[in-house]
Amino acid sequence: MYALRMSHLPPYLFARIDEMKAEQQKKGVDIIDLGVGDPDLPTPDHIVASLCEAAKNPENHHYPSYAGMPAFRTAVAGWYKNRFGVDLNAGKEVVALMGSKDGIAHIAEAFVNPGDYVLVPSPGYPVYRTGTLFAEGIVHEMPLTKKSAFVPVLDDIPEKVVASAKMMFINYPNNPTAAIAPEGFYREVVDFAEDHNIVVVSDNAYSEIAYDNYRAPSFLEVKGAREVGIEMHSLSKTYNMTGWRIGMAVGNADILAGLGRVKTNVDSGVFNAVQQAAITALSGSQDCVRTACAIYQERRDVLIAGLRDLGFDVPCPKATFYVWMPVKDCMAFSAKLLNEAGIVATPGIGFGSGGEGYVRFAITRPVARIREAIERMRRLGL
Ligand SMILES: *Cc1c(COP(=O)(O)O)cnc(C)c1O
Repeated sequence: MYALRMSHLPPYLFARIDEMKAEQQKKGVDIIDLGVGDPDLPTPDHIVASLCEAAKNPENHHYPSYAGMPAFRTAVAGWYKNRFGVDLNAGKEVVALMGSKDGIAHIAEAFVNPGDYVLVPSPGYPVYRTGTLFAEGIVHEMPLTKKSAFVPVLDDIPEKVVASAKMMFINYPNNPTAAIAPEGFYREVVDFAEDHNIVVVSDNAYSEIAYDNYRAPSFLEVKGAREVGIEMHSLSKTYNMTGWRIGMAVGNADILAGLGRVKTNVDSGVFNAVQQAAITALSGSQDCVRTACAIYQERRDVLIAGLRDLGFDVPCPKATFYVWMPVKDCMAFSAKLLNEAGIVATPGIGFGSGGEGYVRFAITRPVARIREAIERMRRLGL
């Protein structure tokens, strides 16, 4: 019944975890879910209020413009200027997305011919792979290993792959490893992309979720980046707006025009009232972002201290709300945590073959629950 391409899609690992979780819940187990990358904190009040107001305006009830309202694109350009010192032409270098997943899932369709390679970090956000497969491209996994600080080693990519590579995804601060881009990495990527004619897609979904005074850069800060690539951003993680579905793609105008052309044919843009609320989020005080980071930071500190006390050798992340912990067998470890301690953690293999040997904890639960999780692990003798 299903098309052949369906069989190329990754296994239903996350669905399987949901099933296992549901089984435990049916037994009455009080589950601590550290699996989902979805903030538990609510969207800040001033953003919600802005949506309510905008929803009452009949002018907002029509089809939105495809690329986004001019005022939204101007707000994005202003935010990029303030935050990264990057100047963007709001008319040509900013496109609204229905969440960055929308852009990531569709970009390959605009640039990748059947048989072209797409360079994808492994472990990585699963949509880089599925977007490639829908465009009938070939996924080349760039391993992110501890040895190379969870950054792809571009020299390791086989020559034949480089020669027919059309696109490359990079993502720092990184999901799932929580790694940050080392100094000079974006420069190296731009040079590589120039040399080999590769479209770079930088996924910067976590730039604002950072600790210890770390400030994540934008790929577009590097000279020449705008000639080879775009960056995607999202309000999902920054303002706890995962359910609202709004993000943006910025950078190279021709690349954005390609993405825009695909999108024009498959969706009809983001509800204007949501764009209005996004303008409020991007243009208003960023105190709410600092407040959220302080909350995550406390949780991070509790989880890291607890895991280290249990004897795990786990690095302390400078950004994202993930903790990436080495374990022997990620599937066995996750299953044991769930079935014997009622804790959900995501097995690394769910993010590609490079994720084997790790589990990902999301610190999207209150401190008390994280302490409880540590106590359960202690009782389990882990
Ligand atoms: C959450 C996430 C996204 C997408 O989020 P949207 O809600 O679609 O904007 C993109 N990339 C990474 C790495 C993510 O973790």
